[in-house]
Amino acid sequence: MLIRTGDMVEVIAGADRGQKSRVILVDRAADKALVEGVNRVYKHVRRSQKNPQGGRLSKEMPVQLSNLRFFCDTCGRGVRLGARFLDDGSKERYCRKCGTGVGQIAPPKSGHAKKKTKAKVAAKR
Ligand SMILES: [Zn+2]
Repeated sequence: MLIRTGDMVEVIAGADRGQKSRVILVDRAADKALVEGVNRVYKHVRRSQKNPQGGRLSKEMPVQLSNLRFFCDTCGRGVRLGARFLDDGSKERYCRKCGTGVGQIAPPKSGHAKKKTKAKVAAKR
């Protein structure tokens, strides 16, 4: 799953379907993410030192990652993400729809860099 904290996502299922919001937290072990303003529930809290009033507290609950889609600014809609290596060997995420890169996810590694052809190497000497 390529969705990360801070991403803008579109909700594609459930009560908040169609909403566009920001990811606060991703829980990879549970395949869930906390999204701003999505899947809000009321938690009833008892009177306590910290909360002398008690009452109802509105907070977000995690949603399944499969119910989210990365929001591509270029496409203006939720899209699927892919990962690819760039010429310098770094890895980036990109929109599968329009091909726009949306940020590096791994630093350059020589092993993944585009191989120089023999002609180019020869020309450098
Ligand atoms: Zn796009």
